[in-house]
Amino acid sequence: MARHRNVRGLKYDEDFEDDDVYGQSVEDDYCISPATAAQFIYKRDDYNRRAFAQEPLEEGDEYAEDKVEEPFHSNQPLLSEVDQARLQSCLDKMREVLRESVSDQVMVNAVLNSQYDARKALDLVLSEDSHQKTKRKIQNTVPTRKSIVGHVDAGKSTLMGHLLYLLGKVNKRIMHKYEQESKKAGKASFAFAWVLDETGEERKRGVTMDVGMTTFETKTKVITLMDAPGHKDFIPNMITGAAQADVAILVVDASRGEFEAGFEAGGQTREHALLVRSLGVTQLAVVVNKMDQVNWQPERFKEISNKLGHFLKQAGFKDSDVAYIPTTGLNGENLTTRSQIPELKAWYNGPCLLEQIDSFKPPQRPVEKPFRLCVADVFKDQGSGFSVTGKIEAGYVQTGDRLLVMPPNEACTIKGIALHDEPLDWAAAGDHVTLTVTGVDIIKINVGCIFCDQKAPIKTCMRFRARVLIFSIDIPITQGLPVLLHYQTLSEPCTIRRLVSVLHKSTGEILKKKPKCLTKGQNALIELQTQRPVPLELYKDFKELGRFMLRYSGSSIAAGVVTEIKE
Ligand code: GDP
Repeated sequence: MARHRNVRGLKYDEDFEDDDVYGQSVEDDYCISPATAAQFIYKRDDYNRRAFAQEPLEEGDEYAEDKVEEPFHSNQPLLSEVDQARLQSCLDKMREVLRESVSDQVMVNAVLNSQYDARKALDLVLSEDSHQKTKRKIQNTVPTRKSIVGHVDAGKSTLMGHLLYLLGKVNKRIMHKYEQESKKAGKASFAFAWVLDETGEERKRGVTMDVGMTTFETKTKVITLMDAPGHKDFIPNMITGAAQADVAILVVDASRGEFEAGFEAGGQTREHALLVRSLGVTQLAVVVNKMDQVNWQPERFKEISNKLGHFLKQAGFKDSDVAYIPTTGLNGENLTTRSQIPELKAWYNGPCLLEQIDSFKPPQRPVEKPFRLCVADVFKDQGSGFSVTGKIEAGYVQTGDRLLVMPPNEACTIKGIALHDEPLDWAAAGDHVTLTVTGVDIIKINVGCIFCDQKAPIKTCMRFRARVLIFSIDIPITQGLPVLLHYQTLSEPCTIRRLVSVLHKSTGEILKKKPKCLTKGQNALIELQTQRPVPLELYKDFKELGRFMLRYSGSSIAAGVVTEIKE
């Protein structure tokens, strides 16, 4: 069930805001036409077929007659010895491509249906009409990561726990156990939240601390759900989650006073929305939760949607990329099926949460760019080497590939790749994978390191220029201010070395050179100095890897994009 990656204890800090060209609209950024989108919705089976085409499959006709070694001992008693040998031969070829993702029986059926033609059999297994589950596993429909954010107590964990329960991802027996245990602990209403909040400490405190990750499938997508902690103390962990997300679900509490507490200064709703946008997320589902607390009043829903809508637009979200869904996580209303509650039906005929998730545009997949993966977790498991997890930001990787890790600027070999716990031969941009690594000492690999293409490695530097948007800060930013740089999963102390200029928000025109300080809402060019080399990309080359955030004394003070890397 929900696995909590070991991201606790990262010396992280929090938030960001965003974006591309700050203060401007983001129309061009993620506006993908259906035709362009197709190139991102790559299909794993296409790749497999291509890879397979290089295998000696054409010889399919030859390997029959006289190879009789290792007959296939299956439940196909009517096969002659020769046919058994042909079958076995086909199965061997298919296994090379399919690995363990398909059962023997599925493969045997495909071989028999294709008259012992391994190539056709493989096509059959991979084709539309083959076993649905098999197809999903192999072609990995459209992997999408969602980050769930929102003010503490908005009901995020309950909502997601209930969603997973309704999707059959939680064993009934375990759910019953959670119910009993939470009742005993005097927190009966937390039972669903416990599905995600796995650790004892989280249960005791009743808050989510790590980024819990769970996978489920919708009609068209394989979803990795990241329940990001909402509590202020845990925002650093949330960044790890959100940095890897494609789309976000922002949960707000509809109850009177509660939405306002989360939305106003000091609340986390605004901060989280800015944060996910600055991390590159452009699509948002706003879940207006606990609608039972306001008797499903349309006026309240409208009021919240309007207030948030106005703010989200300013934060850089396009109206058309934000959807609002009324729910109650506790009762499971409007989560996986459209709610039949008359009070809601009277005024809402939009999608339920699952439908909305399913209708998100698939994420961009810069497969053609050089390989980049930012390490979100490092751990030792059985076997040789160790493992790292992270989202592949660009390019693809195959088992046996040599990659460079920056820092420490050392080469390594990828011994294994796993996606959703399934071993694979390759993985590509957009996949959240586990790589088994050898050839480099685990001690040198930290959260924040970047695995990259040896031929086109990411640069590292200690000095860079960036265009930043200053958040609402009380004390102006001056030269020499020590801040914390958040870049992907990396967190690193740095100093604001120079205030180069104040820029016009929309045109980028220089309004003032060498300003003495920077204040709330300003757009500026600054120079930053780190103490150790950090891996960075220019925003113009690699949007995903050219963004960062700055924090100071526990608060987010600015979001930026890298414009110049100094040697
Ligand atoms: P999180 O901090 O955002 O993860 O919030 P939790 O999921 O831990 O929920 C906080 C509290 O709100 C718990 O007591 C839940 O039982 C309660 N809660 C969650 N969803 C609903 C809902 O839809 N309606 C009502 N009335 N209470 C809810």
